[in-house]
Amino acid sequence: MGETVHGSGGSGSLVLVLNSGSSSVKFAVLAPAGGERVLAGMAEKVGTPEAELQIRRFPDHVATEQLPGGSYQAVIARILDHLPEAGLGTAGDGSSGPGQSHLVGAGHRVVHGGERFTASVLVDDEVIAAIRSSSHLAPLHNPANLAGIEAVRAVRPDLPQVAVFDTAFHQTMPPSAFRYAVPEEWYTRYGVRRYGFHGTSYRFVTERAAALLGRPLTELRLVAAHLGNGCSVAAVSDGASVDTTMGLTPLEGLVMGTRSGDVDPGLFGYLADRAGLTIDELNDALYTASGLQGVSGVSNDMRTVEAAAAEGNERARLALEVFVHRLAKAIAGMAVGVERLDALVFTGGIGENSAFVRSQVLARLGFLGLTEDAEANARNGRGTRGRISLDGPVVAMVVPTDEELMIARDTARLAAVGARLR
Ligand code: ADP
Repeated sequence: MGETVHGSGGSGSLVLVLNSGSSSVKFAVLAPAGGERVLAGMAEKVGTPEAELQIRRFPDHVATEQLPGGSYQAVIARILDHLPEAGLGTAGDGSSGPGQSHLVGAGHRVVHGGERFTASVLVDDEVIAAIRSSSHLAPLHNPANLAGIEAVRAVRPDLPQVAVFDTAFHQTMPPSAFRYAVPEEWYTRYGVRRYGFHGTSYRFVTERAAALLGRPLTELRLVAAHLGNGCSVAAVSDGASVDTTMGLTPLEGLVMGTRSGDVDPGLFGYLADRAGLTIDELNDALYTASGLQGVSGVSNDMRTVEAAAAEGNERARLALEVFVHRLAKAIAGMAVGVERLDALVFTGGIGENSAFVRSQVLARLGFLGLTEDAEANARNGRGTRGRISLDGPVVAMVVPTDEELMIARDTARLAAVGARLR
């Protein structure tokens, strides 16, 4: 896992990367070698008469197309239709001459791989069945991810496909980190354990952090915070995940945009009793009406909450304090898993852009040997190889993530292995 691409079809190789939701699909066509985008966009209301495809052909051509009744397959077919227009041939159709780009595979983000998948895999019937059998762990996501795989299969049966799992990277966690202290049978019969998410992002940013630090990843002890709409922290020791804050579901751990993160599980019984709420209502509130949104009452979006706090909104200020306190506490907790901390990595929309959040977190972590370099932090680490801390035993850094590129790299690498085996 995590190698860069070697011999995977040459400099003209392109990969279609798909992130399929229940009624939408985000996609990109990019070069796995350097990450250059050729196409990117999103289809919404897939499977309805209002289906719409927004597509950007780089550098600057943007189009919105209606795809009436657009099935998933129609969407994929339409995306692929754009490839020849972009001056591209596709592998195996005879049109890709020397120097021309060609599509070497499709890579899919798959949310849950359960305990079965510890790395990205080439898709075959058995893999499809195994993803289906993990669907109870991610009932909203895995079936949608599978629909994307089936649609590409229907349109381009010969195109190698690769599944890249959010959970796979964390399968190296030891039982002390992944087991809950609950009845054994909940684990053995129902798979109740901590799985962790954002694995593709952690793989990308920890490799990149090692490169920026000029040290081998296999010798580094890192804590990384992926802070987007969903937020988590992971402990990465010698390139392997040893702990993370998300668990059975992406609800556990940090305060997020609309998700509560950790709460006392006793609140379920308490609110069922006091407020007459059902499990579904409680679950829904913890996923969609909590987090920054629930505390601030202003927004789930960090930029908006920061702006409201700056204007004196007390609830927004409190939301930031709770967010930062919980984040700093989680980072300190993750440091236990790595035993010695070399670097703290911030990534995701908030991690990459919010100098305020990073500054507040670093101010609480001085005891770990971290001191903010205010100027470097204000520049989001640009011009300092990501570094935002002053000289000390631990480096704090900003490393922009690129999950699509990680998926594209895995896809190109595994497609090349598949081609050698054929
Ligand atoms: P997703 O998890 O959906 O990929 P992102 O990684 O893009 O989302 O993160 C979205 C979050 O990043 C939002 O809360 C947004 O407000 C926050 N964000 C983006 N830019 C900034 C900024 N300049 N300052 C503070 N927060 C930001």
